Amino acid sequence: MPSLIHECLAGIPSVVDTVARMEGINPRTAARSVARGRLVIPANPRRSHRPCGVGEGCRVKVNVNIGTSGERCDLSLEEAKARAAIENGTDTLMDLSTGGDLAAMRKIVLSMDVPVGTVPVYEAVRRAGNAADVDSDLLFSVIRDHCRDGVDFLTLHCGVNRDALSALHSDPRIMPVVSRGGAFHVAMMVQREEENPLYAEFDYLLEILAEYGVVASLGDGMRPGCIHDAERHAKTVEYLTLGRLANCALDAGVQRMIEGPGHIPLPQVEYNVKMIKEITNDAPLYLLGPLVTDIAPGYDHLVSAIGGATAAMHGADFLCMVSPSEHLALPDVTDIIEGTRMARVAAHIGDISRTREGYKHPRERQMAEARQHLDWKSQFSLALYGDHARSIHARDGDLETCSMCGELCAVRMVRDIFGKEPEKKQG
Ligand code: SF4
Repeated sequence: MPSLIHECLAGIPSVVDTVARMEGINPRTAARSVARGRLVIPANPRRSHRPCGVGEGCRVKVNVNIGTSGERCDLSLEEAKARAAIENGTDTLMDLSTGGDLAAMRKIVLSMDVPVGTVPVYEAVRRAGNAADVDSDLLFSVIRDHCRDGVDFLTLHCGVNRDALSALHSDPRIMPVVSRGGAFHVAMMVQREEENPLYAEFDYLLEILAEYGVVASLGDGMRPGCIHDAERHAKTVEYLTLGRLANCALDAGVQRMIEGPGHIPLPQVEYNVKMIKEITNDAPLYLLGPLVTDIAPGYDHLVSAIGGATAAMHGADFLCMVSPSEHLALPDVTDIIEGTRMARVAAHIGDISRTREGYKHPRERQMAEARQHLDWKSQFSLALYGDHARSIHARDGDLETCSMCGELCAVRMVRDIFGKEPEKKQG
């Protein structure tokens, strides 16, 4: 079966045409972007769902992670979290389950109408009992199982190799490895005294992904886990590896995106995004964070939204939701709703901040006009989360203004002084 990349070299596949129309871009341009590896469309042919484009020409997308752990394993809770994430605007879901019946959980997530990602090494470790007992046969067998089940994109920590380990030793960090998948691969490599099979046998990995039409999300197992570690070498060594592997994947007709960059101080966000984009030939960039401070646990959804909006403004394509319970506990439904909304807001800010035309977006202007007219109904319908805005406004009754200034409403005062309301302009 020809890959989407190969199909795009010959014409405009229907899924590309659909995504292009959803994004308001020329289908031919979208096909060219897919062929050049700058736009990915995670869509395993074994299942069908709402298509989603990530990368060049597309709106910034949001992913939400759900999944069980050994300590909290409730499939109905995870299903409720998945539904809450979709209702609140996520574009994709990732199932990061490590506890309970992993196949049953995956089936639940794959029943949702969005692209789904997984991290196969989690299940490989679960099947083996511990990371040191995961060999390449087991890992590739789990990868095949996930592809066969219909998973659309797989996080694969191919860049956690001997070079990255050497960088960890020669340029130590306060927190050596915080990525769960990264830590599993480090354990496999150190305890088995072997190279990471995803790196050593990358060609074989590409064969599997090409066979099933699955997108590789090249994981950032060496992402910094605190802003103090942001300048240490390990992550850069990993990105250089991922850049090489991204080119190999493209040559093999396998769609791929790059994950990064973890905890990064705000002034370094632009540089990191541009550096990764340059190293990877503008591959779509999927961000975990960036978390721009480490001292706001409980509010990491806001910390991540600030970093994510900044990164998206500078070219990041895909934001992974961070919930208020990040670093503290497995998220519940409320955490997922809050985190998804913050990520969605960050993605919108990123979208409108990329160009001068962006922040002149018609919906922004319509909201300004609705505010000037004290037109609450329009304000709530224009708001990203109008029901939430309406419930706050309604707390103090059905006022013409709002209870913030009440009778001293500046908008109404100036409108009355000027004697008439400003003309409404179109879009
Ligand atoms: S009362 Fe104050 S906050 Fe509320 S709409 Fe008027 S100016 Fe704005």
